This record gives sequence, C-alpha cells and structure tokens, in this order.
Amino acid sequence: QIRVGVLALQGAFQEHIILLNTLPQVSEAIAVRNAQEINQVDALIIPGGESTTMALIAERSGFWPSLQDYVQTHPTWGTCAGMILLSESISSGGTLKGDQKLLGGLGISIKRNAFGTQKESFEAGLHVKGLKGSMERLFPGVFIRAPVIDEILVPETSCSSSSSSVEVLAKLESDYGKTPKGTIVAVRRGHLLGTAFHPELTRDSRMHEYFVSMAQEWIAAAQDRKK
Ligand code: GLN
Repeated sequence: QIRVGVLALQGAFQEHIILLNTLPQVSEAIAVRNAQEINQVDALIIPGGESTTMALIAERSGFWPSLQDYVQTHPTWGTCAGMILLSESISSGGTLKGDQKLLGGLGISIKRNAFGTQKESFEAGLHVKGLKGSMERLFPGVFIRAPVIDEILVPETSCSSSSSSVEVLAKLESDYGKTPKGTIVAVRRGHLLGTAFHPELTRDSRMHEYFVSMAQEWIAAAQDRKK
C-alpha cells in the first residue's frame, strides 16, 4: 500500500482524495499544501483547476522549490491544469501567459484551453493504452477548458530520473470543434503521468488504479536500484 498526496492549493483536489480512498492499494490519501506534507507521501496528484493560480500560490508560500524537487524523483500525475504544470512549455495560441512557471518533466509542449471556454466542456470516450478493459469499455474523458498536448519533446539534457521517452497513452477519437481527431490527450514519461481530462469527476476509478500501480512499480524499481 502507498500513501498518495493530492496538491491542495486550488482546484479539484477533494474529488481525487475521495476516489483514491476507495482503492485497496492506497493506505491513505491526503491533501498536500506545504513542504512538510509533501515529504509524507509516496506519490502525488496535481489536480485540475487554474495552473497559473496554483503556481502563484506555491511560489508565494515558498513551496515551489520543494514541489519542483519532489516531482523529479516521485511518481506524479497531473490532470488538466496539473498536466500543464508538468509540461516543459506552453505553445502560443490559446491564452499564453508568458511568465507562467512550470515544473516540467513530462517532455511535452501543451496548448492551453485548446477547446475554448467552460461552455465547450464535453465528455469523450477514450481508449487508454494499458488501462484495464479500455478496449471494450472506453474511459469517459471529461474535458473542462482542457489543454492538449501539441508536441512531444525530446530534451537534449535530461536528468537521470526522467530520461525515458514519452509514451502516448490516449488520443481524441473524433474531431471536437477545431481540435482534430488524433490529438494527444494522455502521456506517460517514466514516473510522470499527464492527462488533459478529469478522471476524478467520473465514477470510473481505472485511471487512478493505473496511476497507483505505476507508482508502486516505480517505487519498487527505485528501491532495487538503491540496493
Ligand atoms: N484552463 C486551465 C488552465 O489553464 C485548466 C483547466 C482545468 O484544469 N480544468 O490552467
């Protein structure tokens, strides 16, 4: 069993905590707001919300450096705004905030608010690679002012813990407005996971199970490496 933290500076963190607490592999899910709390968890979820606001709150409270250190070495999943924070860069188009701070690590460039405003929220069925039963039962992807992944980057200099390549886990299966079928909406890179959609707003716990298993495997492998 592992202890999972959910970054609780802003956004949809409560829903993640509730869902995680239903999983047998999770001993406890807790809200994480500072350096002390983050050091008590084996893995972290950065929820959806407003990525600029989250970054600002973390910076003002002095938490940003600890958060940055943590995601380099611990399994972390960013959903929506959380995925934005784990990306390397934000491409122009959409609303670009030039001074937005990012944690990076996922090796992707994203486009913010790719589908337009809150009104353009929608649900799309997705095949997610490696997800239990997602061939027969599509995962309900809830998109709310969601970003998309518009480029996979292979950085020249990468630290050892995140040197693995980016794996595409899900793509849109139809066109949604101006965003075409085939657009990437979920990726994994080593110990980091990013989804443009909000699995905590569904009753489907498969993405959370996926993350917890990937975290457990990664932690076990890290312990082996230390031996
Ligand atoms: N549009 C938000 C942002 O840019 C993300 C929306 C969400 O997390 N649902 O941070």
